[in-house]
Amino acid sequence: MCRQRNPRTLEGVSTSRIALYYKFVPLKDPEAVKLWQHTLCRELGLRGRIIISEHGINGTVGGPLKAVKQYVKQTRSYQPFRGMEIKWSDGGAEDFPRLSVKVRPELVAFGLDEVKVNDDGVIGGGEHLSPEQVHQLVEAKRAEGVEVTFFDGRNAMEAQIGRFKDAVVPETETTRDFVTELDSGKYDHLKDKPVVTYCTGGIRCEVLSALMKERGWQEVYQIDGGIVRYGETYGDSGYWEGELYVFDGRMNTRFSDQAKTIGECVSCAAPTSTFYNCLDRGCSTLQLYCTDCRHIPETTRCQACRKRLAENPQHPNSGALTRPRRRHQAAESVSV
Ligand SMILES: [Zn+2]
Ligand SMILES: [Zn+2]
Repeated sequence: MCRQRNPRTLEGVSTSRIALYYKFVPLKDPEAVKLWQHTLCRELGLRGRIIISEHGINGTVGGPLKAVKQYVKQTRSYQPFRGMEIKWSDGGAEDFPRLSVKVRPELVAFGLDEVKVNDDGVIGGGEHLSPEQVHQLVEAKRAEGVEVTFFDGRNAMEAQIGRFKDAVVPETETTRDFVTELDSGKYDHLKDKPVVTYCTGGIRCEVLSALMKERGWQEVYQIDGGIVRYGETYGDSGYWEGELYVFDGRMNTRFSDQAKTIGECVSCAAPTSTFYNCLDRGCSTLQLYCTDCRHIPETTRCQACRKRLAENPQHPNSGALTRPRRRHQAAESVSV
């Protein structure tokens, strides 16, 4: 993937990397795994975010290539993590504010305790398809006169800058909203249709596809390795359109120079893929702005904050930041 940020030196590009990974596997003692992972990362000088739960591990870590390779080797040497797939991406420790290793009740916060995991992963999930198999499925179904529906497993905001063609994008602010969305009846017409769920790196679909099947969707597939792997295979010449929102300092990446810009500035509707934080202190609302509009304070305040400012100009959060900033930390602990 091409970088969207400051160009780095050639040396920087070749010697630093980000590793993204997850594995659903039962862990008896998540706290012990956390301590081990924290020590390991600190000793190797890595930064990033790692979530551990009784259901496995989900992490994104960056640092010098040698150190990240060492990290991967050591992590895979732990029996439950053996053979864990790693996605590599450009970047390094500087793409993360710090090292954070946490134990959480869920790897991805759906707000559920119904998810069951065994040594083979999430129980009852959708069938995994490689990017090539996704194309085979679409073509085979089309030959039968049936359209395959792509179902976005991310927060709706992420889909503003990139999504699969004609995808269904549920109205989700966080992953917790999926259960309400699925139970709302809005997507019941897809229950007997082939549905392919997708998310950034695949982890959210492991759970989402299981929830859908549990709730009566008959034919659910998930893209193995998510948009990241699909993009590596087909770039911008397949069913993907636009740019990919990522949960680290890069914020968005594109698969090729042919990537379309499908996002629109909230203020003037000019094409853009760049999210900016609301101008007000303490507000983490992200909105798309074009280069011109993002410097105008009146427009770079989100609607809720504009309303509050009008009602109570003295509110402590109404103080504007000195300059617009891009958010560098995810509001949610989803990394892949
Ligand atoms: Zn604009
Ligand atoms: Zn705001």
